Amino acid sequence: MGNGAIAAGLAASLASEDETALVKHFAAMPEEERARLTKAMDSLGYSAGRRILIIFGPPGGGKGTYGEKIINKLGVPGLSTGDMLREAVAAGTELGLKAKSVMESGGFVDDAIIVSLITERIKQPDCAKGFMLDGFPRTVEQAGKLDEALGALGESVNMVLALEVPDDVLTVRICGRWVHKESGRSYHIKNKRPKSLPEGEKATEENMKDDETGEPLMRRADDTEETLGKRLKAYYEKTTPILDYWAKAGIVKKVEADDTKGKTMDDIWKSIEALL
Ligand code: AMP
Repeated sequence: MGNGAIAAGLAASLASEDETALVKHFAAMPEEERARLTKAMDSLGYSAGRRILIIFGPPGGGKGTYGEKIINKLGVPGLSTGDMLREAVAAGTELGLKAKSVMESGGFVDDAIIVSLITERIKQPDCAKGFMLDGFPRTVEQAGKLDEALGALGESVNMVLALEVPDDVLTVRICGRWVHKESGRSYHIKNKRPKSLPEGEKATEENMKDDETGEPLMRRADDTEETLGKRLKAYYEKTTPILDYWAKAGIVKKVEADDTKGKTMDDIWKSIEALL
């Protein structure tokens, strides 16, 4: 069947509201064209399948902050490989023991471990409507493995939302960051002080509490200026090439996420929301 006949068939079945004929014409399209149409629909959020989104950005780029808003809006879980690994470290599991020192030094945990962690996780029932990945993939190899795993399910990534923030801003953010472990909510000793920290006082474990639960905040072991250098190097060398890898699929959306030069966090959120 030629393209003209396919288009005419699709138009006729759309007009007749005959769903079976529509599906038949869709199925008869050459594979490449069907894949292009599906991908275009996916990228516009019209997919009948799962919403599969990646929040992408450097350490301290706001993935946790904006990621929480995204998952609340879409009603899908956020899957952070960093959080999964930190849980394994805290629980002292075999995986945790393997990952601990690599994480503390700012290196990458083995691809095979990470990929199986995620491919198992996305089979869970809470991912039925979709999911948002945070901190994964970290390398082009991991992105390829994710594509393979999703491809086997007839799925693909709908959108890669890339937050862009200059390094000097990241350093300030990371070095003053305290987080609420349970929710991933993050605070900053200067820019986003919790209510529990009195004006003019130095941050301590006693006065740094989560606004919503009152639970203690913590500092991540790898949130130091020294480790950040290594994490940023790995990000630019190994992680950002993923954007080129997915660019040709037309699913990469970049958002300028620096809130120190006129734009507020609310402005940034509005530009993210417009893409969802
Ligand atoms: P994050 O919370 O995403 O910054 O992750 C903290 C640390 O966990 C990273 O610095 C890595 O050591 C490790 N990690 C998290 N996700 C991955 C991944 N996809 N591949 C390899 N290592 C990872």
